[in-house]
Parts: sequence; C-alpha cells; structure tokens
Amino acid sequence: MLLTTFGFFALTGLLVWLHLRSSGGGGGARPSGHVARPSAPCPRCQKPVVVGSTFCPGCGVPLQAFEVVQAKIATGPQTSTGVPKAAVRADMCVGCGTCVAACPEPGAIVLVHKLAVVNDDLCKGHGECVRGCPVGAISVVTGTAVNRVRVPLINANFETSVPGMYIVGELGGRGLIKNAINEGKMAVEHIVQQLEGTEVPPCDEPFVDVAIVGSGPAGLSAGLESMRRHLSCVVIEQGSLSDTVRKYPRHKLLLAEPVQVPLYGDLWIADASKETLLQVWETIVANTGLPVRTGERVTGVARDGAFFRVQTALGSQLARKVVLALGRRGTPRKLDVPGEELDKVFYDIVEMEAFAGKRVLIVGGGDSAIESVLGLINQPDTTVTLSYRGTAWDRVKERNREKLQKAIAAGKLSPMLESHVREIRHDVAVLEVDGETTILPNDFVVVRVGGEAPYAMLERLGVQIVEKEVAARAG
Ligand SMILES: Cc1cc2nc3c(=O)[nH]c(=O)nc-3n(C[C@H](O)[C@H](O)[C@H](O)COP(=O)(O)OP(=O)(O)OC[C@H]3O[C@@H](n4cnc5c(N)ncnc54)[C@H](O)[C@@H]3O)c2cc1C
Repeated sequence: MLLTTFGFFALTGLLVWLHLRSSGGGGGARPSGHVARPSAPCPRCQKPVVVGSTFCPGCGVPLQAFEVVQAKIATGPQTSTGVPKAAVRADMCVGCGTCVAACPEPGAIVLVHKLAVVNDDLCKGHGECVRGCPVGAISVVTGTAVNRVRVPLINANFETSVPGMYIVGELGGRGLIKNAINEGKMAVEHIVQQLEGTEVPPCDEPFVDVAIVGSGPAGLSAGLESMRRHLSCVVIEQGSLSDTVRKYPRHKLLLAEPVQVPLYGDLWIADASKETLLQVWETIVANTGLPVRTGERVTGVARDGAFFRVQTALGSQLARKVVLALGRRGTPRKLDVPGEELDKVFYDIVEMEAFAGKRVLIVGGGDSAIESVLGLINQPDTTVTLSYRGTAWDRVKERNREKLQKAIAAGKLSPMLESHVREIRHDVAVLEVDGETTILPNDFVVVRVGGEAPYAMLERLGVQIVEKEVAARAG
C-alpha cells in the first residue's frame, strides 16, 4: 500500500516535471513563461514594439502615424499590369460622397455607413473619383495592392530634408483631423528636445522659437503644444482661422475620433458640425492667447544665419524652427473683386450635392473649372453659369472640351465667354460682358482660376519630394 502510494506520487511528479519542461515553464535558469516574440524598434523612440501592435508602449504613439514616413520610396516606373480599379483608403475617407457624385458609372462607388466602397465589377478605373475626392483618399491601382503617392520626404519626427523645418498634417500625406492634431504635437515634442540645452543665438530682431505656417488642426495643435512647452511661437495663416474646415459645406457633420488637444484636453467632435469645431478652435485660441496672425500668406522660408526667415505678404518673421502645416489645398488665385470675402465664394467644390437646386456661377477656363461645371450640371435643379475671360475653351483637355460642348448644346449651362466678374453680392454676381454690366441672380460663386499647389512651394523651399509606395486598401 505504502509502495503503491509512493509510486503514484513519484509518477505524477515526473509527469508534471516533464510537462513544465516541455512548455518552457520549468524552474531552473529558464525564464518562466516567456516566449520570444518578434519585435521592431519604434521609429520615434526606438523602444522595441511587438510586431502587430498598434501603439508604441514606450512613447504611446499610434504606429499608423508612420505609415507614409516608413513607406518604401518607389523606384522606376510602375510595372504592374491588370485592370485599373479605384481603391479607397478606409482610414482617410470622410464619407462626403463627392466621389459618388463624380463617378459616371452608376453604382461603381457607393457610400456605406459614411465610407466609400468600390464595386469592382462596375468600376472602370477612369479616376473621376480620384480627382473629386477632397482628402486624397482614393487612387486607381492596377492589379496591385500598392498605391504610389507623391509626398515630401520626412523622418519619424516629421522633420524634412531641410534640418529644422517640419511638415505636419495633410501636407505630409495623411488626412484626417485626428492625425493632423497628433502630428502637430509630435513635431513640437522633437523641437523641444532639439532646443533643450542649446544657446539662444544673439539677434537684433524679434524672433520666436517656432513659426507655424497654417492654422488648420495640425498648425493649431503645434502652436498649442509649443505654448504648453513654454516655447515662443506664432501661427501664420493666409485665410481665416482653420480655413479648410471653415470651407466645408455648411453644417457638414464631422467624422472623427476623440483626440487630445494640447492645453485643452479631449476633443470630442464625432458627429459635431463644422460650425461647432470652429467655435471650439476659436474658444481655445481666445482662452490660451495663442498668437495667430490671419490674412497673412507665407510666400517663402529661407535660412538666415542661425534662424529661418519666414517671408510673408506683409513682412517677415525670424524663427529658430519652422513647422509647415499648409494642408494640401494650396493657395488659390483670387479674383480680387469686392464681395469675394463672402462665405458664398469657394475655390474648390467639396460636395456637389450641397449645390443642388442652387444658382452657381463658376469662374475659370481651365480643366478644373470645366470639371466643376460637369459635376454640377448633374445635380438636380442646379442652374450653372460659366464665366471665362478668354474667347474659347482652348486650354482644356480634349475629353473635357467635348463633354462641355455637349452640355452647352443640351442647354445644361449658360457659358459667358469674354466676361469679367466685377463684384459679388449676397444674392447676385455683377459681370461685365462687352462693356455692358450684367447682373446675375446667384447663390454661390466657385472661382477656379488656378493658384499655387503646396508642393510647388515646398520645392522652392528645398524640401525633397519623393514617390512612395503605400498600401492601398479597398473600402
Ligand atoms: C469637405 C471635407 C470634409 C472633411 N471631413 C472630415 C471629417 O469629417 N473628419 C476628418 O477627420 N477630416 C475631414 N476632412 C479632412 C480634414 O479637414 C483635413 O485632413 C485636415 O483639415 C488637415 O489638417 P491640416 O492642418 O493638415 O490642414 P488644413 O486644415 O488644410 O489647414 C491648412 C491651413 O494652412 C493655410 N495655408 C496654406 N498655405 C498657406 C500659406 N502659404 N501661408 C499661410 N497659410 C497657409 C490654409 O489656409 C489652411 O488654413 C475633410 C476635408 C474636406 C475638404
């Protein structure tokens, strides 16, 4: 009996020991319960991050922030073959439906729960949706899961190939308000590290630690983070505070996740209107005293000894570091006529449906003006007039010219060649045609007469622009 009991316990003990040994959980010198999991360094703080994690456990940054920064630089021509199809980046789509209105193939792209979804069987890949998308969330890919995007070359701290000059927000290749806010903060965190312990260079002129160009979510966040970190700063804005958001269609509902804004806290904007977000920004600026100079366009940035000289239409500003938060909409050329400041004047169309049933005057004679016309004439009950100072539509692509001529022949719009807008009022537009004044009843004016694209400005500033291969995710 004693022997049987002893034998039972001895056998059980042996089996338990063998099991623990095989599962790596045995005692001795072996680390208990640890299975080596593959990891890679965080691009920002270099701490190891387990492959597949969405956040860095070291600095707490969402790793998606580096999606474009870390993407491979494309070399040589794109060689993939196959049928071209639209692909939507689900993380960038804002559900505005402009692509649906722009697409000539019914049902090829539809909105499902505020996300554009492509029907591969119906999509012909001609890319009208790509041109229509206001946030660059769509591209046409050919039999490949890779998108080629043209972006400025920046590192994981959002610093460009010009040391001391940073790029944040949509200008760097990633859309959405939350991304812009996060990138603004991250760039300034790096600036703080760079300036810490460095001597302030002697200077006879007033200067700031950080000059921020653009007062969208990225620029405001960079400014607030600078203030929070006790850096002197200024935000310089060509239009009004947060001009891109201000130009969203009226009462546009925002699609956004809560995000931490420096000196404010959690910003809950999901399903708030753009008017609410603007009010929040205005209150934050007023309460914190963040210096924002609106109505001042930055035209250049150049090194000036130990500083940068930020050149504006009204003068210049010295700064130790520069954060460019220009967005991707560029600087549209203006008409310079009375009334152009009214909120019925747009330089881009972001939601065709917002113009349904309205009287719209489009100004311009290039492809962008004609493409706006072609989108608007399909809106129900929209009255479209096209004003161009030239004598013929000879600057546009053949395909656009043909479509325009068909639309004119079908009486879908009123073309006004050799016409000049002289004034914009609340309910009319005043034009001069053949020396005569014409008063046009009008709800909206869309000015599409060119301008400077933001990348043209970056190239002038010496920032390297590259083509990168970013994963294309169909919606
Ligand atoms: C119609 C529409 C709907 C959208 N809906 C959503 C949504 O629901 N949710 C969401 O998360 N995102 C949405 N977005 C995208 C979001 O607005 C952008 O991703 C975000 O505004 C990018 O922020 P940013 O600060 O990088 O650039 P922007 O907000 O574009 O700000 C750039 C600022 O820089 C200024 N600027 C440019 N050049 C100069 C210069 N030379 N000198 C001085 N100032 C200059 C501009 O005037 C502008 O104010 C939408 C975009 C559009 C167009």
